[in-house]
Amino acid sequence: MAEIIVTSAKPLDEKKRKRIIEQLRADASSVTFLVDESLIGGIIISDGTKVLDGSVRGKLREASAAAKARVYDKPLEHILDELKSEFVSFEGGNACIEAGLIRSVTDGVIFVDGLPDAKVGELLLVDKKYFAMVMNLNEEAVGAILLTGLTEVRAGDTAQCTDRIVTVPVGENLLGRVVDSLGVPVDGLGELVTDTFRRAESPAPSILDRTKVSEPLYTGSKTVDAIVPIGKGQRELVIGDRQTGKTSICIDAILNQKGKDVYCVYVAIGQKSSTISDVVKKLRDYGAMAYTTVVAATASDSAPLQYIAPYTATAMAEELMYKGKDVLIVYDDLSKHAVAYRTISLLLRRPAGREAYPGDVFYIHSRLLERSAKLSKKMGGGSLTALPIIETLGSDISQYIPTNVISITDGQLFLEAELFHAGVRPAVNVGLSVSRVGGSAQIPAMREVAKGLKLDLARYREMAIFTQFGGDVDDDTKAVLDKGAKLTEMLIQPQGKPYSPEEEILEIYITSHGAFAGVPVKEVRKELDRLMLEVRTSHPEVVSAITAEGKLSAETKAILDAMIEAYKDKQ
Ligand code: ATP
Ligand code: MG
Repeated sequence: MAEIIVTSAKPLDEKKRKRIIEQLRADASSVTFLVDESLIGGIIISDGTKVLDGSVRGKLREASAAAKARVYDKPLEHILDELKSEFVSFEGGNACIEAGLIRSVTDGVIFVDGLPDAKVGELLLVDKKYFAMVMNLNEEAVGAILLTGLTEVRAGDTAQCTDRIVTVPVGENLLGRVVDSLGVPVDGLGELVTDTFRRAESPAPSILDRTKVSEPLYTGSKTVDAIVPIGKGQRELVIGDRQTGKTSICIDAILNQKGKDVYCVYVAIGQKSSTISDVVKKLRDYGAMAYTTVVAATASDSAPLQYIAPYTATAMAEELMYKGKDVLIVYDDLSKHAVAYRTISLLLRRPAGREAYPGDVFYIHSRLLERSAKLSKKMGGGSLTALPIIETLGSDISQYIPTNVISITDGQLFLEAELFHAGVRPAVNVGLSVSRVGGSAQIPAMREVAKGLKLDLARYREMAIFTQFGGDVDDDTKAVLDKGAKLTEMLIQPQGKPYSPEEEILEIYITSHGAFAGVPVKEVRKELDRLMLEVRTSHPEVVSAITAEGKLSAETKAILDAMIEAYKDKQ
């Protein structure tokens, strides 16, 4: 018979040993008795193949594992309630709580002595009522950022490990709401009712969970939809100097999702409160708040709150994506996010790298943007499309943060101050803007008109450079310049007026087919509006054919060409 080992917390007397041997129906010589104080109480019996754990230590481990699994996905207040009840029950018992002591507090960054078991990203309970998140594990102290109690926490307060990470409320009840970085409403519309929560930071979908971008996500801007098309699940960077219309183009994209079954999340990082309230007003006036959540971390919020805001917003968007919905998220903007992270890192005394940013600033953005995806059918087929915004200085896209985010995203929309001031709005520089995946998601009609448009504009740019110093130009060059100027004029579009794909296709088709060869540039807009009205009233079948077929059929083209010829003859 195999040898049996019986381990107990205290030495067992003769009577107990006999009883155990009897119950095991074993030979007395094959049973060995050992003592291990760490069992606290009870016994463990093992025969080399099986272990029967009846010790107090084993029971405690089971209980703590169950407790951990139970409380993972709870919001901060719930965690606080639970911890409070745990502490109340602790007070009666003789168990002790491990706590560290805060050594210093600077601008939301704390250093804690003690806490050898703290983990990176773990929530700390500070002074039994506030929360902090662990960022640094140094040999002598733990560095953390305060999420609540920024002005209340003092050096000398206690900090305890909680074995939890930051979770935020998510779900459809957040639509129409403005919340802060931790998901607490700030719009005065009452308490948020939701019982679904999600971790602010969670892993991105794996390669196998994804599928390729195949459906267009229309922004309602002619330039974007034709030249730098965006597909559902794509990440397209919006980059440009200050005041070049970056926010406007993204807000217009949100407005354009009205009635399209796409949910939107707008996260403001380090913006003025007044700017955020303007955005919310615009969304509300247009009726876009019905399907939008705004996460606001204002310039007056602490760096830790600005840092965590985009992760919170992504968790909210992700919840909908995993439910099979299409979601659009706008990060306004990641330059300020990088600055907030730099502040935290410097306060945490991490070594400063290029432009004083810490070495892992690339990683914080890549792990954020990797969470955008087009999910496979098996995963529900939802999508998360991201429009991160980056502000440049003097149109320099070769700075550190811009190059980082350019390399993480699937393309960039470059807005140029010079074009903006020249009245070309949206001020998209079509030469430097690209979309690496959206082209495959375009409908054939759009692809057809966009191809001609891109070629015409490229030729126009080239000629414009050659002829900018004056001199005689031949007739061919003149024609190229004239057409280019008119196409540029056609692409100009006011804010808050998104176009439908059919309107975009028709305007581009009419202008590229030389309808306005004899019309001065200034008149193009007016004449185009007239022609568009004519299409809608005299040939409504053209619009419905494009909608139904997705392409420009021979009949559709014949009708349009005839209309253009008739218009030219009249001039
Ligand atoms: P900031 O750097 O301050 O965040 P931004 O790049 O986000 O600025 P916006 O705030 O979107 O730029 O726009 C700047 C100004 O340009 C606003 O006053 C806005 O009304 C105007 N604007 C933006 N787009 C257009 C447009 N298509 N037509 C006319 N005006 C526009
Ligand atoms: Mg802006």
